Amino acid sequence: MRIVLLGKPGSGKGTQAVMLSEKTGLPHLSSGAILRDEIRERTPFGLRIEEYVLRGEIGPQELITDVVFGHIERKRYASGFILDGFPRTVYQAEKLDEQYRPARCVLIDVPDDLIVDRISQRLTCAGCGAIYHRAFRPPSAPGVCDSCGAELRQRSDDNAEAIRNRPEIFRNDVQPVVDRYRDANHLIAIDGTSSPGEVYKTLEAATISR
Ligand SMILES: [Zn+2]
Repeated sequence: MRIVLLGKPGSGKGTQAVMLSEKTGLPHLSSGAILRDEIRERTPFGLRIEEYVLRGEIGPQELITDVVFGHIERKRYASGFILDGFPRTVYQAEKLDEQYRPARCVLIDVPDDLIVDRISQRLTCAGCGAIYHRAFRPPSAPGVCDSCGAELRQRSDDNAEAIRNRPEIFRNDVQPVVDRYRDANHLIAIDGTSSPGEVYKTLEAATISR
């Protein structure tokens, strides 16, 4: 089954994708991980996108599409995957429909004010990069990473004030994609405001149990 997960940064989309991948065995394909993988393995598309990445640019959407599709083809994932971070534009959604039409497109819906709250509750391990949340996923001992024992910190750009000062991060840049799937009656919007476990139950019901 081909599944597309959509949501704002901080919606918990990545966490849900990992959980769904563990349950179903479908590969979790995040667009960032695909680009890194293609670059690391020196594929033709990887080498082309590397030029942009090295300059700190995203790269043209057509090339990103080629990289993602090349990866799906190369890894033989065509029959099933969980896509996270792609498509980001209507062009990419159209191409995806042509090549690998998704069976389920799920939006994890979380209001902006809750996103501020969530990101400001986030703690990051200075040692291994593990991410915790003061309420939803607290470490066993306060301020200490469960995995490696290093100190947990709040990233300076994760405090509420810094987040509110960057309104553009809340602009859901995939809104036209969401609208496109909604207009085509192909969008399943689920409530992403409860705990990760609760959201996951809804996600499972909306995808593999449907
Ligand atoms: Zn750690």
